Amino acid sequence: MSLSIPPQRPSMCPRQMSSSSFADAFDDARRKLDAMGVHEPGEDEVLSPSLSSSSSATDVSATYSVPAESPSPLSPATPTTVPITPMVEDVADNFAFAFDIDGVLIRGGRPIPEAVEAMKVLNGENEWGVKVPYIFLTNGGGKFETERCRDLSQQLEIDVSPGQFICGHTPMREFADRYGTVLVVGGEGEKCRDVAESYGFRDVVTPGDILKANAHTAPFRKLTETEHANSRDLLARHGAEKLSDIVIEAIFVFADSRDWASDLQIILDIAQSKGGRLETRSETFDEGPPIYFSHNDVLWSAAHEHARLGMGALRRIVETVFEDTTGGKKLKTHAFGKPQVSTFEFATRLLQQWRATQHGLRQTKPPATVYFVGDTPESDIRGTNAMDAISENEWYSILVKTGVYQPGTEPKYKPRKLVDTVLDAVNHGIRREMSRWGSRKEPGGRMLPLDDAALKAVGEGRTPEFEVQDNFLTMA
Ligand SMILES: [Mg+2]
Repeated sequence: MSLSIPPQRPSMCPRQMSSSSFADAFDDARRKLDAMGVHEPGEDEVLSPSLSSSSSATDVSATYSVPAESPSPLSPATPTTVPITPMVEDVADNFAFAFDIDGVLIRGGRPIPEAVEAMKVLNGENEWGVKVPYIFLTNGGGKFETERCRDLSQQLEIDVSPGQFICGHTPMREFADRYGTVLVVGGEGEKCRDVAESYGFRDVVTPGDILKANAHTAPFRKLTETEHANSRDLLARHGAEKLSDIVIEAIFVFADSRDWASDLQIILDIAQSKGGRLETRSETFDEGPPIYFSHNDVLWSAAHEHARLGMGALRRIVETVFEDTTGGKKLKTHAFGKPQVSTFEFATRLLQQWRATQHGLRQTKPPATVYFVGDTPESDIRGTNAMDAISENEWYSILVKTGVYQPGTEPKYKPRKLVDTVLDAVNHGIRREMSRWGSRKEPGGRMLPLDDAALKAVGEGRTPEFEVQDNFLTMA
């Protein structure tokens, strides 16, 4: 029997990676979104259409590069654990999954019951015995990637590697070389300073440092003894005589604020300063440093029955109060994370590397389809659909009912598929693939494509016996 032609698969082109860094990709994606008429929520009312209103914030040209074969998003201090035994023969090579975490897999620190089962299905416990590569893409943060992966491993009863994990602030490490002194906001204790320093940021100031230097900064906020001890002496550290000698070059909100009132005060003080100099006030209110938020989610799914306020809410407050206290000046801040297309492009590079190191799929092409499973239409579904619109490969959005999205309501951004739980999402994606490619499990257990004759027979409703020939199933 002559060699048969495999079932036709969609043509794929290598992704156009026009940018050499996340920073460039970020700008690029913003322009694409603008061109598509996609704006961030609230942008129309609050923000000017340009990328930035502050002089320094417009300068987002990169001074460093991120290779297309990007390293895993790990801090230098936490190197990737690499390869495991490649198992090409039973790994799906033309599709993959990407998951949001909160409201999809985890809620209030506990796994959503179907999540553990969903991971088993992806790891080969499905009727075809095929393993499916997957990564995690969360807007959350506030911990080292390694720590969050350890937590997730316990919660989901699988090994989660930092090589398959992106959190809200992961892309910020690509800005470490750009700025000297930065303000890092959010998270528990000193954790975000530690994460920022592990990313390579050289001089990280926290709101605690500023409160320690001048207790009048936030009248109702008293540092605890521990906070006081952990906070740094800004003047001594900078060899400065007064706080106005210290210049904050950029503000990074890494994780959710634990004290919105004092953090808001400090962010606004610096936004309204003379070129980032602490304790100064600009006369024109247009010379503050750029402000970056690791994501823009106004709501997120926590243990409470109703969704809780997230960093996107703080971002809106910062912009609104800036305007209210400067006689109507606009403040344009920036947000990473979903739904930014650049974050999905970052995810594409991570997925490529993960497929190679973990599964031995050493291809130059990305999987033909990436199924993205999320609970928030405004970030997960919106971002996936926007990525699908500009990407050569297919990004297929699946919305679950276990998080922010309220069943019965009309989602603002429409998913390709609405399902109850992450397990339904995984089963839907795998079944869609299997019916598309006419793949079947061979007698030995491997997942193989059907050849033309076998495909035709199956298409006609016949159920022939198969045999393996040249890594295809043909009729016995
Ligand atoms: Mg979520």
